[in-house]
Amino acid sequence: MTTLLPNAHFTYTMWIDGHAASAKSGQTFSRESPAHGVKVGEYPLAGADDVDAAVAAARRAFDIGSWPHLPGAERAKVLLRAAELIRASKDEFALIETLESGKPIKQARDEMEWSAALWDYAAALCRHLHGDSYNTLGAQVLGLTIREPIGVLGMITPWNFPLLIISQKLPFALAAGCTCVVKPSELTPGTTLRLGELLAEAGLPTGVVNIISGYGEPAGARLSEHPDINMISFTGSTEVGKAVVGSSKSNLKKVELELGGKNPHIVFADADLEAALDAVVFGVCFNMGECCNSGSRLLVQRSIAQNFINRVIETARTIPVGDPLDEQIKIGAIIDGNQFQKILSYIDSGNRDGARLRLGGKALNRENGRFIEATIFDEVQPEMSIAKEEIFGPVLSILTFDTTEEAIRIANNTIYGLSAGVWTRDIDTAFTVSRSIRAGTIWINTFMDGYPELCFGGFNQSGLGRELGRFSIEEFTELKTVQVHLGPRTGWWARETPTMPGTV
Ligand code: NAD
Repeated sequence: MTTLLPNAHFTYTMWIDGHAASAKSGQTFSRESPAHGVKVGEYPLAGADDVDAAVAAARRAFDIGSWPHLPGAERAKVLLRAAELIRASKDEFALIETLESGKPIKQARDEMEWSAALWDYAAALCRHLHGDSYNTLGAQVLGLTIREPIGVLGMITPWNFPLLIISQKLPFALAAGCTCVVKPSELTPGTTLRLGELLAEAGLPTGVVNIISGYGEPAGARLSEHPDINMISFTGSTEVGKAVVGSSKSNLKKVELELGGKNPHIVFADADLEAALDAVVFGVCFNMGECCNSGSRLLVQRSIAQNFINRVIETARTIPVGDPLDEQIKIGAIIDGNQFQKILSYIDSGNRDGARLRLGGKALNRENGRFIEATIFDEVQPEMSIAKEEIFGPVLSILTFDTTEEAIRIANNTIYGLSAGVWTRDIDTAFTVSRSIRAGTIWINTFMDGYPELCFGGFNQSGLGRELGRFSIEEFTELKTVQVHLGPRTGWWARETPTMPGTV
């Protein structure tokens, strides 16, 4: 079954201070479907003045609004209603994301469910944000560390999982009592823009969430440097993440970063090879490989390499590529011309550097869309660019190893450290590898599963800070110490032994 391409594009507004808003300049920009080559969306083009208006609204909502002071139970009700409304909008939102991003529609529908589940989980955390108490400081002292919302957040997101990625941030910041200005990617802003009205319907007070659409320059850059923003939560490329850190210096705002990855998928000879085979192909083809967690490096033990690699190639060859509105399709279109050229140039570099192209390697000739077939290189050497750099396409680089130590060395040979997969039935190997790889998430005998309860983030240049899990809500808070003296206090001039000053 194939969903029909709508015969008109969608039109969107921004959401500022509780109202639908156009850009002050009146300008708009549009998006063509990467799979169909037709216009699918038109959005306001935010300038710095629109960002300033959104930040002012969020600042007011934080400084004099009710949201930061509501009981957790009241905030939880809003988040739970939002989750329900996301579920109710699942089909429409999935269509919007498929049209803007080129991802398979069936997968897009799943992503809406996963997004709603994050709002559910964050609702539970609203009632569980707490600090510590110290009852061990003597009879006359009680020490408290309390958590307070960090303030006004700027959130900047990429194009590959639009609603899912904002749902890894926004409900958790709201749970903590923060207010927000959100800027989605200019390539896929649709569902994030729709969230404004949806959250108002869920009962979120005016000004708590403001959503603008526009490019990195000027909108994202203005948000990152804005003096009235207390924290930026950014997901995107390592390169732009570094620029965001630079802009944040203006007022030393806190920065949380979720960045790129070059994730190793390590298969030992004793593994359940059927299960590993499926996960390796899924790991590189999911979302056309346009995934920070893509298992884009396969490290396979030499004793089983030849047979296993042949089977990976035969399986990947059968994965259907094409119109993402078709329910059967697993690999849709590549997001835009730049990314398309970037993937093809990495394929060229693999060929030039002497890796052996075993499958694919070409753009597929489809009239109106940009498609690249699943591509596999073996005989890849650790120093080649296709072994070390993030390609962000359906391209697998295969390396071989003999010993566990060698596998760990190759796996860590990257500037990144987002995630890794390990396939073995040997518990010693599984845990030795898990503890030795410098990455934020390790999957043992599975790949790319996620749960709202488990935190996610990167080592090295894959990021700063963590999302999801109970830690996520803490990322959006400040810690404050409150020291209480009980009973009569002796003046310092009368004390024989002065107490230690807290700070000097
Ligand atoms: P990108 O860095 O090009 O853009 C991300 C966002 O930053 C967009 O909204 C963009 O408009 C904005 N931006 C661009 N220039 C800016 C500037 N100077 N100041 C502030 N904002 C600016 O990334 P992308 O191409 O949209 O996404 C792909 C990248 O995202 C990949 O590297 C991928 O690995 C990474 N990613 C990471 C995770 C994770 O959780 N670690 C998840 C998804 C994607």
